[in-house]
Amino acid sequence: PELIEAGRRGYELDRQHVFHSWSAQEKITPMTVIDAQGSWLWDGEGQRLLDLTCQLIYTNVGHRHPKVVEAIKEQADRLCTIAPQHANDARSEAARLITELLPQDINHVFFTNGGADANEHAVRMARLHTGRHKVLSAYRSYHGGRHMAINLTGDPRRIASDRAADGVVHFLPPYTYRSYFGSADEKQEAERALGHLRDTLLLEGASSVAAIILEAIPGTAGIYMPPPGYVEGVRQLCDEHGIVLIMDEVMAGFGRSGRWFAHEHFDVEPDIVTFAKGVNSGYVPLGGVAMDDEIYATFAQDPYPGGLTYSGHPLACAAAVATIRTMHEEGMVEYARRLGDQVIGPRLEELKDRHPSVGDVRGAGAFWAIELVKDKDTREPLAPYGQTAPVMGEIVAECRRQGVLPFMNMNRLHICPPLNILEEDIVFGIEVIDRALRIADESIAG
Ligand code: PMP
Repeated sequence: PELIEAGRRGYELDRQHVFHSWSAQEKITPMTVIDAQGSWLWDGEGQRLLDLTCQLIYTNVGHRHPKVVEAIKEQADRLCTIAPQHANDARSEAARLITELLPQDINHVFFTNGGADANEHAVRMARLHTGRHKVLSAYRSYHGGRHMAINLTGDPRRIASDRAADGVVHFLPPYTYRSYFGSADEKQEAERALGHLRDTLLLEGASSVAAIILEAIPGTAGIYMPPPGYVEGVRQLCDEHGIVLIMDEVMAGFGRSGRWFAHEHFDVEPDIVTFAKGVNSGYVPLGGVAMDDEIYATFAQDPYPGGLTYSGHPLACAAAVATIRTMHEEGMVEYARRLGDQVIGPRLEELKDRHPSVGDVRGAGAFWAIELVKDKDTREPLAPYGQTAPVMGEIVAECRRQGVLPFMNMNRLHICPPLNILEEDIVFGIEVIDRALRIADESIAG
């Protein structure tokens, strides 16, 4: 009862003083969260909800994991603040554990406060390293909500401030389910999307391009797996033209897709990896730019002219150390991979077969999307690009009534539980979504 009361007070004050992300303030009724544990949240009325929205903050080890909570408490008892220029064991151990997971020549980490600033610093480093200015990024991508990061972003949220950041050029990514290139299959899609990128480089002047930034598995944009050969082809184009390949692993990194990093699904090694969220399960804000020895060498003599007050904050780094160790100890990445291969994937495929409104299901590990359509044959989306069909809200509301919280984006439901969700819980979550999809089926039946 005290938590519920605190939640009510919190809600009233929220409506008076808090301006939420991406929202028309007067039109929203944010869900109150009063408690969370493992894969479950409790809303303002004390109702227990299965949290399938972990893509947002990437609670990879689940809410309030005792080992991570304890590590933060221990660090707080010891040392809460360190200046960015000082050395500290929490920061250096976090950097060591992170680089240990990355390709062999990625050995240095510049810590940031989150994903957007990691991407902006990565681009700035690539520009200084190459002496070039342009950056190529994909439509249907998300790279953050800051000035340049939102311009790198290829989803509709960038449009309001499009072209405000200099030198950003977008290209069409592969999207086999709804190909921009009229491809018949994955092989053709990979070839044509690479041809388009090659043309973009030609037309823009490859020698003016500092970096290509790519989510190996785009997240917010729709969790779509690139066709085999595509990411490798991008790597090859970067090599041909001396372009830095920045992999944005902010959402897909740290186990989400059943690999430590999404780029491991492909035969590539990036030059820079940006990360945030999952690095410490989102318990304390932290992001970073992990760079290879060659880029590091650029700044060995001429200092990198950039820094952040909270770079590698000790509480955030202690949480990262505990998260990564816990993930190793509890075999969470392998578990998520198995869950995706054996439970989530097959069950979503069945669900697709049963529902006329489900056009496509895709993903890996604990990283899945269900794409809804008006017509399975023509693949006409449930709502035009950039819009959300009203029925999506009804589906999520029905899931909530049944104790499950999926994430909704345009015409897709995303299923992103903690990596260590119990099998019986994810099965329950998918069953609830399965029943709620009846609402979409009825809406398209007219
Ligand atoms: N890149 C990707 C791929 C993301 O998914 C996000 C956040 N959803 C960001 C960058 C931005 O991260 P942050 O919100 O921490 O700035």
